[in-house]
Amino acid sequence: MTSPTIGVLALQGDVREHLRALTSLGVDATAVRRPAELDAVDGLVLPGGESTTIAKLARTFDLLEPLRLRVKEGLPVLGTCAGMILLADRILDGADGQETIGGLDVTVRRNAFGRQVDSFVGPVEVTGLDRPVHGVFIRAPWVEAVGPGVEVLARVDDPDRIVMVRQGALMATSFHPEVGDDPRVHGMFVDLVTQP
Ligand code: GLN
Repeated sequence: MTSPTIGVLALQGDVREHLRALTSLGVDATAVRRPAELDAVDGLVLPGGESTTIAKLARTFDLLEPLRLRVKEGLPVLGTCAGMILLADRILDGADGQETIGGLDVTVRRNAFGRQVDSFVGPVEVTGLDRPVHGVFIRAPWVEAVGPGVEVLARVDDPDRIVMVRQGALMATSFHPEVGDDPRVHGMFVDLVTQP
C-alpha cells in the first residue's frame, strides 16, 4: 500500500490534532462518524477525550458493532489515552456499564495516575524510536496487565507503569502523541498500516 487512508474517529476528543499529525506525514486523513466512512479506511485512530462519552456516542451512531467487527477482521488501530481505554478488553475504574470496542488483550486502569500526577509531561523512551518522545499525560490511563501476545513499547518509571503497547495491528498509548509537532508515533502507526 503506498498512500493509505487513515480515519480518526470523530465523535468527541482531539480529532483535529490527529488529522493534522497524519496529514503532516503525507497520509490521506479523514474524519469517521458513520459506518460507511469506517468502511473506507485502511487504519483508524481513536483519539483522546472522554472514553465514556465516545463509547456512548459510538453506540448512538450505530458505530460500536461495526468498530468491533473491523477490529476483529484486523483493521490497524491506534488508540491514544481515552482511545487506549476504548481498545482495551478489560478496564478498571470504568464508569458503571462502560463499554469498550475491545480487541487489545490488556487491562487498563482509567484515570490511573494519582491526584498529584493527574496530568504531567515528560520524556518517554519508545522501543523503535531513537530519541524519547515528549509524553503528554492528561488524566491518563496506564496498562496494568498484558496478555501473552502484547508487546510493551514504553513505560514510565515513577510509578513504574506501562504506557504504550502493541498487539498485532493494534497500538495504544496512555499519552497524547498528537500534541506538539512530533509525528513519530503516528509514523510508527502508518508503518503498521502500510507494512503489516
Ligand atoms: N480520563 C479520560 C477517560 O477516561 C481519558 C483522558 C484523555 O483522553 N486525555 O476517558
